[in-house]
Amino acid sequence: MKKLNEMTITEAARALRAESASRRISVRELWDACSEIAKAKNPELNVFLEIFDADEAAIENAQKRIDEDATSASGRSAPMLCGIPLAIKDNILIEGKIVSAASKMLANYHATYDATVIKKLKDAGALFIGRTNMDEFALGSSTENSAFGVTKNPYDITRVPGGTSGGSAAAVAAHMAIAALGTDTGGSIRCPASYCGVVGLKPTYGVVSRSGVIAAVSSFDQVGPITKTVEDARILFDTIRGQDTLDSTTIPDGLYSENKKEIKTVGVPRNLFAGILGEDMLERFTSALEKTGCNVVDIEIPSAKPALAAYYIINFAEVSTNLARFDGMRYGHASRGETLLDDYLLSRTEGFGEETRRRVLLGTFVLSSGYIDAYYRKAVAARVQLTREFNDAFKKVDIIATPTMPTPAFKIGEKSDPLSLYLEDAFTILANLTGMPAISIPMGFVEREGKQLPVGIHFTAPHQAEKMLFTIGNTVEKTL
Ligand code: GLN
Repeated sequence: MKKLNEMTITEAARALRAESASRRISVRELWDACSEIAKAKNPELNVFLEIFDADEAAIENAQKRIDEDATSASGRSAPMLCGIPLAIKDNILIEGKIVSAASKMLANYHATYDATVIKKLKDAGALFIGRTNMDEFALGSSTENSAFGVTKNPYDITRVPGGTSGGSAAAVAAHMAIAALGTDTGGSIRCPASYCGVVGLKPTYGVVSRSGVIAAVSSFDQVGPITKTVEDARILFDTIRGQDTLDSTTIPDGLYSENKKEIKTVGVPRNLFAGILGEDMLERFTSALEKTGCNVVDIEIPSAKPALAAYYIINFAEVSTNLARFDGMRYGHASRGETLLDDYLLSRTEGFGEETRRRVLLGTFVLSSGYIDAYYRKAVAARVQLTREFNDAFKKVDIIATPTMPTPAFKIGEKSDPLSLYLEDAFTILANLTGMPAISIPMGFVEREGKQLPVGIHFTAPHQAEKMLFTIGNTVEKTL
């Protein structure tokens, strides 16, 4: 039998409710199994910035809800997530806990309220194992930008787990939690999911509330699940989604029109990865595509190549404005100099890491009055054009596929030049620019230096068509 911490959400939920007493597990046993492994592996992997003590009341309450179901005449009411231990990325607020966004700036900052997604998970009876490592303020693709050290990839500890939700993906891959939440601004759920061999979903922009999530790029950010299976991703997604009066960008419930179109044709923007994809990557991709049983056609999305530049310009611009609040006066790290200006300069220079400072400076530049037309406004126009091209493509194909990342996980320290790191995001950023939902699903392994490293296939669907991603995801997953 599988170890308890190795179970999926579906398996654990079933085991918690097993009719035969010998097969039934308790919420406590499931918690202990995850917590023990998390504690045992964390010194080596640096997945969690903090592993929480058991919340006795929450464990007891979850058990009670499950037990009551067993005796109730009206059947099951406890949600699937009741009693399930989850790992939470450290930019999502849990009331009373530190939430640092892996920055020295917020190293001791305690959340004063629950993010809406956390409130929903608590209502469902989910438990929280700990807060996971990430790139500072969700800026990066490797988790190397954390102020608290890099997370190691469970498949090869000399390699990165991907980023920025590297801790969350590694937690799931190493079975330190049953599933996790990450956030995705330009690929931060899907990139680490690909590098760690798990499933990662970036929902349609506006389907999941951003209230209580530390903002990086408000017009791109979405919270989403990182899980062992596609079905688990669906369960988490269904729990956290929905309109929220605390986030005016959420789509009103009545307007979310589930697109349940049948998937017959998959479009592949092949010119996007010609020349940058290794032969073994291409082979895995082609064979995963074949397994969908769909008609595969090449498509052109002309603006997809320049999109990476547009993404980074908008990213820098919004990061510079969002992070202006960390000024040494209101939140977090504060240093005092001779003048008020010194206070700002010292606090921000000491509190922010190198990549964060780089983006604040470049963002201020692209928004400055002399350059806003040349950079920021052009990037915004490119984003509109890209969305138009995607919508046009969806008139001919049902879903669009690429590999999630051009490569498997790279070595820690290998991409110290920021530009080479930015180039890794060429496929994932498209879904954030267009606001469309996208999923990464394991498509097998490629070998590097004698090690088998997982890689993912990436599907993008039209707005609000998460359901199509789950359908095609289930097909690919079953054939692996
Ligand atoms: N790698 C991208 C960036 O650095 C994406 C980050 C993210 O999704 N949070 O901006």
